Amino acid sequence: MKDGFLRRSDLQRLIDALTASHRKVIGPVVRDGAIVFEPIERATQLPSGWHDEQAPGRYRLTQTDDPRCFAWAVGAQALKPLTFAPREVLWRAERNERGELHFTEPALTPPPLAVIGVRGCDIAALQLQDQHFAYSTYADTYYNRRRRALFIVAVDCAHPAATCFCASTGDGPAATSGFDIALTELDDGFIVAARSEAGRTLAEALPLHEVSDAQRAQADAERDAASAAQQRTLPGRNLAAALFARLDHPHWKDVGERCLACGNCTSVCPTCFCHSENDATAADAASADHIRQWDSCFSAGHSYIHGWVIRGATHLRYRQWLTHKLGSWHEQYGRSGCVGCGRCITWCPVGIDITAEAAAIVGGVREGDARP
Ligand code: SF4
Ligand code: SF4
Repeated sequence: MKDGFLRRSDLQRLIDALTASHRKVIGPVVRDGAIVFEPIERATQLPSGWHDEQAPGRYRLTQTDDPRCFAWAVGAQALKPLTFAPREVLWRAERNERGELHFTEPALTPPPLAVIGVRGCDIAALQLQDQHFAYSTYADTYYNRRRRALFIVAVDCAHPAATCFCASTGDGPAATSGFDIALTELDDGFIVAARSEAGRTLAEALPLHEVSDAQRAQADAERDAASAAQQRTLPGRNLAAALFARLDHPHWKDVGERCLACGNCTSVCPTCFCHSENDATAADAASADHIRQWDSCFSAGHSYIHGWVIRGATHLRYRQWLTHKLGSWHEQYGRSGCVGCGRCITWCPVGIDITAEAAAIVGGVREGDARP
C-alpha cells in the first residue's frame, strides 16, 4: 500500500481504529512537567503545542500555540518498561501442608498494546533488546509475550533536542524499519506509511488522502533539517579497539570524580538490560517470590562476586558502562549499544555527557584505531 495523508482533524480516527482492533492505546502525554507514555483514549490528550528543551542535566517543557502533537524529542521513558518490566515475579515457590514445595509461573497474558509516537532511536533500541531477550539462546518468555503484543506507530522526529545524536549513530531522526505504521507530522496533518500487514490493515480503516508533492517536499526538508540540527556526535560508530586500548586513561578518574553512581543513565537508557534476581520470602516462610528487577552497572551490588565488589570505585563502574555500551556490544550484538537518544545526558543530575567523555578518552582517533 502506498502512503496517504491523514488530516489533523481526523487524528481521533487513528486512535479509534487502534481501539477497534482490540488494542490498548498508549501515547505521549504531559505529566509532572515531562512527556511520558500513558494509556490514552482521545487525540486531545496528546501533547499538542508542547516543546521540550534539553541540555546536560536539564529538561524543561514549554507550551506554545503550535498545532503539532509531536514537536518534542524524547521524554525520560522509552519503550523499555513496556517489554522489559522494571520489576516482576518470575516464579513463586509454595510449601503445602505436607511440607512439599511447588513452583508456579505467574500467568502472563499482556493485552495487545499500540504505542503512538515512537521515535526512530527507540525502535532501534527495541531491536537491540530483541537481540538480547528474544533471539538469544535462552529466549525470555516474559519479554517475548509483551513484545508480540506490541503495535508500533512511529513518528519521525522533526524537533531533536540539543542532547540528541541519533543521526551520528544511524538510528534517526526518522524510523526506517521495525514499526507497523509511521507518521510524518506536518502542520495540517500526517503522512501515513504502513510497513507491516497489521499496519496496512489499520491504514485501510483511515480516511487517507493523496499526498501532494508539496507535502512530500516539506516532510523531506524537515527530516533533513532535523539531522542537520543535531549538535552532538560520538567520535565513531565502533570504538571497541580505541576504548580497550585506553583502559588506564586518566580521564576515567576524572569522570569518576563527577559521577554520583546514581544509575539514572542506565534507567533511562532504552538499551540497558542489566537486572538482578532476588527472592522475597513471606514472613511465615510458606512461600517465596523470585523477582527480577532492573539493576545498574553503577550499583555496588552489580559487581559483587563471591564476597567481593570487583568494581568498588565509581570510575571503574563508569568505565564498565562505557566500554560495554560503545565497545563490547559490537562483539555481542554486531553494533554499538547506543542509539543516540541523549537521555543519559539529559537525565544525569551532574550533566555527564557520553559524547564528550568518549571523545576525551579516544581523542581524535579513527574508528577501530587502537593506538593509545
Ligand atoms: S547510552 Fe545514552 S544516548 Fe546512548 S542509547 Fe543509552 S541513553 Fe541513549
Ligand atoms: S553518569 Fe550521571 S546519571 Fe549515570 S550514574 Fe553517573 S551521575 Fe548518575
